[in-house]
Amino acid sequence: MKILRLPGEMHAVRDSLRGTPVVTGLVPTMGYLHEGHVSLLEAARERCDRVVMSLFVNPAQFRPDEDLDQYPRDEERDFAIAEKAGVDFVYAPDPEGVYPAGFATRVEVEGLTEVLCGDRQWRGREHFTGVTTVVSKLLNAVDPDFAFFGQKDAQQATVIARMAEDLEFRTEIVVLPTVRERDGLAMSSRNAYLSAPARERASAIWSALLETEALYPQEGLDAALAAGRHRLEAAGIRPEYFEARHPGTLDPAGDDPDQAILVAVAADVEGTRLIDNILIEPDRQARRK
Ligand code: AMP
Repeated sequence: MKILRLPGEMHAVRDSLRGTPVVTGLVPTMGYLHEGHVSLLEAARERCDRVVMSLFVNPAQFRPDEDLDQYPRDEERDFAIAEKAGVDFVYAPDPEGVYPAGFATRVEVEGLTEVLCGDRQWRGREHFTGVTTVVSKLLNAVDPDFAFFGQKDAQQATVIARMAEDLEFRTEIVVLPTVRERDGLAMSSRNAYLSAPARERASAIWSALLETEALYPQEGLDAALAAGRHRLEAAGIRPEYFEARHPGTLDPAGDDPDQAILVAVAADVEGTRLIDNILIEPDRQARRK
């Protein structure tokens, strides 16, 4: 496994693979790897001849009051996990390499970035602009055939897929299922911030989503969402949002059992912002009478 620190080193690898039949996969991460990341690396390893993992805590996607400085980091551990998962190249540039003096470009997706986490009262669309700007740069620096993202960040994956299509990137965006702890809490680097009691309470996020899924077919969407919110509040967790959306457009979902819906939640647990979601497919919904 090779560690590349400079954009120029990444470009040299990219250029050496260009025009060859080698299939390249990219897994973008901010490090502090867990099994969710590993599932993406393993999927990339299975489908691709060369696997590139980027490791970059992207300052542009943090708000000034967010945890950029505290974001958990452990490069040596990440390198060991990546190597075990069969990564060929870790691209771990410095912020100055990604955003050199004079950097002046932003890649902004409209609409999809203005709801859920993009709502101004929560993280705001600037967060997603930071994501799409850096992912565009990574897609150009690596030029992968496939790039792998987690369903855990469903809105992010939707925004990136939109951007890749709109800007005619040749890379296919692959979205893979959320990996969970035993009690259902979605794995996240930020879970490391939680105290033991908060960690226990946080499992109510997944229980609330499951409850909504279970109640939706018979009780209807509003009642199912209300029950999910109630479940969270009973665990002392006040959600920022707990909403049903159409998975592709992120428009508000109506009460239509023939349509897939994405129920997405963000909640502050003891000062740590956690997000999760469940995709409810039409064929998993028992027909209402
Ligand atoms: P991050 O390092 O948090 O920016 O995440 C890097 C990638 O891993 C993103 O595509 C995330 O959606 C994905 N990811 C994070 N947590 C999980 C999880 N629990 N299961 C699957 N993918 C995940």
